[in-house]
Amino acid sequence: MSLEKQLQQRSNNQCELCDIDENLSVYKVPDIKENGLDTTLYACSTCVDQMNDSDKINANHWRCLNDSMWSEHDAVKIMAWRMLNRIKADWPQDLLSMMYLEDDTLELAKASGDGEDDENKIVHRDVNGVVLKHGDSVVLIKDLKVKGSSMVAKQGTAVRNIRLDHENPEYIEGRVDGQQIVIITQYVKKI
Ligand SMILES: [Zn+2]
Repeated sequence: MSLEKQLQQRSNNQCELCDIDENLSVYKVPDIKENGLDTTLYACSTCVDQMNDSDKINANHWRCLNDSMWSEHDAVKIMAWRMLNRIKADWPQDLLSMMYLEDDTLELAKASGDGEDDENKIVHRDVNGVVLKHGDSVVLIKDLKVKGSSMVAKQGTAVRNIRLDHENPEYIEGRVDGQQIVIITQYVKKI
């Protein structure tokens, strides 16, 4: 049986986060290598858009996590945990304090850099010192040569949905002209 079929069965053809039964698709938990049913969920386009782009987060939509955070499925728990960490409000903290993840699962949840203690956290800042977050959009403030290719990423290019390098605060990653490239934070400005 295909992964999608298995997910359809598991989810009863509903978004595993918010229960909506429209515009569903297979969503692989990002930032981890593990593949398969435990790291994939069935989610609606509303949830997917907001999981992929923190700028689009509508906190009220995620009240659904009140229920779905108790899912028995790791992929759902992982994304619930990450989203609770991303929502800028007080109530997610209450839910997080009730939530329980096995150590292995928590490790996978943290792979995106969400929820790290501020002390241990590597902070990425743009040229103006503005903190950059996973999923942010930035604009390049100068032409950048792309290592290992002849490509030049032009000044003024907008890069959406950036990823942070969790070992180096100077580096972020983003897609330019369809290519995933490493960008130095001092050459970008958050938009
Ligand atoms: Zn949903």
